[in-house]
Amino acid sequence: MNLIFIGPPGAGKGTQATAIINKFNIPQISTGDVIRAAIKDQTPLGKKFQEYTNKGELVPDKLVNSLVEDRLGKKDCANGFLLDGFPRTVNQAEALDEMLKNRGHQLDHVLLLEVPDSLLIERITGRRSDPETGQVYHLKYNPPPENIKTRLIQRKDDTEEVLKERLREYHNKTAPLIPYYEKAQLLRRIEGVGSIDDIQKRVFETLR
Ligand code: AMP
Repeated sequence: MNLIFIGPPGAGKGTQATAIINKFNIPQISTGDVIRAAIKDQTPLGKKFQEYTNKGELVPDKLVNSLVEDRLGKKDCANGFLLDGFPRTVNQAEALDEMLKNRGHQLDHVLLLEVPDSLLIERITGRRSDPETGQVYHLKYNPPPENIKTRLIQRKDDTEEVLKERLREYHNKTAPLIPYYEKAQLLRRIEGVGSIDDIQKRVFETLR
């Protein structure tokens, strides 16, 4: 199963992705995670990425496309994959089409998690992650256990100010993917408002 998850920042893609990869036994490829790891290690590429992510801007297509191309070539993608946070521009979608064509693969579904902007600020600013396990929580909607609360960290770009720019980037550059995949008859719209369990049911219903 070859899947793509698209949706605005804070829509819950990462949370729902975990359930999907466990059920279908496919790897999750999150370009955001790969980019954050490079920044953490302060590799030359990581330093370059940081200039964009700190401002909430998208990293240039060329850099992200080559990251994904390398990753899709790994053995664990033979059974399929879930791309989370890629593509984010029409140029990236076209590059992905080319990569898949060269490998003789095609997409099965493009899941669009729809959440209105007005709900995203609260979702994003309450988000915290556990540096030891990578688990992501929300202070109100998915509260962490009391004993690990003090070690949780907040992503640098999860502030209200940076989120505004991330949303601008989403509407200007990522939303054009909606008609792109609609035309290819791959787009599946999923209402992203509700409890994590309710949304998970909708996701699995769509993939049935
Ligand atoms: P995410 O964790 O998916 O919200 O990504 C965090 C940040 O990484 C984004 O705000 C971008 O700066 C960068 N990023 C992640 N994926 C992409 C992509 N496909 N294209 C460009 N930039 C990306």
